[in-house]
Amino acid sequence: MFELHVLGTSSARFAHGRSVSGSVLNTPGGMALIDCGEGMQKRMMDHNRALKSSGVESRTRISRVRAVFLTHGHMDHTWGLLPLLQTLDLDGRRNRMVIIGPSTQEAIDWATQHPGEAPPEGSDISPTDLAILFSQWQAIGTKDETSSYTIDWVLIPIEDDTPFTSPIQPLEGVTVTVVPTHHGVPSCGYHFESNAKAGRFDRERAVELGLTKHQIGQLASGEDLTIDGETLTAESFRGVPRAGYSVMVSGDTAHGPRGFDSQLLPSSPRLLLHESTFTAEKQETATQYYHSTAADAARHATACKASVLALTHYSSRIDTLSILVSEAREHFSGPVTATTDGDWFEINANGNVSHHVRVENGWNTMNL
Ligand SMILES: [Zn+2]
Repeated sequence: MFELHVLGTSSARFAHGRSVSGSVLNTPGGMALIDCGEGMQKRMMDHNRALKSSGVESRTRISRVRAVFLTHGHMDHTWGLLPLLQTLDLDGRRNRMVIIGPSTQEAIDWATQHPGEAPPEGSDISPTDLAILFSQWQAIGTKDETSSYTIDWVLIPIEDDTPFTSPIQPLEGVTVTVVPTHHGVPSCGYHFESNAKAGRFDRERAVELGLTKHQIGQLASGEDLTIDGETLTAESFRGVPRAGYSVMVSGDTAHGPRGFDSQLLPSSPRLLLHESTFTAEKQETATQYYHSTAADAARHATACKASVLALTHYSSRIDTLSILVSEAREHFSGPVTATTDGDWFEINANGNVSHHVRVENGWNTMNL
């Protein structure tokens, strides 16, 4: 099961009680963050307390974060990371942390030669390229020798907009695919897929055949057995394999990256959480500033054959979200939902999606 806790749904700045970007993804292979805007650690703590007090089993404790996937270097997606890393150090964390984000080979080379520096004016490299930010952050207090734990800073060079398997896979049993996006700086979305599982082992049949414990263990671990000249294949003791299921988060993007084509993705996501900064009347502005309208988000959902589209990352000009939902519905035939801060989604092993909508004393659940 995946859980996606969306703890910030505003673009660029706090507005209408909405925080900037930051989500918690709970997977069978551990917890990850996707973006980490200002105040993320407090949001996680408050959310965790609310989950606990309303009797929900799920948690968003910062100590459990294994990896942070940044979609790009803009401050509203990254400014909460350093304080969170420092709190973990104060807490005496021992486990390794992985921070992953997109960059370009040019920026990575430049930052390696000029650690901690900003690129010169007029350079093609953005001062908010993650290669630049990572090297600056390391220079101001997250160096390994002064920290209780080790941080792996992983920069992924983006060359074109073809999706590819992440070279680093920090979540066991989950395959992460990097989906390059169009945002004016190196940027990407992420596709998380739980690996397919072998079908259920038919222990009852093995017992009925009078096999020893050792032989049953062999079959269960995939070894074929030959008994009195007869072969028992391990496969014949397994039920139908359980398919994987996936969730995808867009990051910031204009409409059009190839990676939203279902043919280029490992699987169609059950849930696509997509930015929706503007309404249709601001289509030109969206394109100009490398953002999406609700209609753009819906076109991407259709292209990648998502089962459910959840909107997020709203401009401060947008107060009521229903207009975004109705605009999106014109371009996507599946369920569309607008996320508010503190909502969370569950994608279970059968791929069913439920949306837990934050209300005063807990959450209302909608099955989508
Ligand atoms: Zn943004």
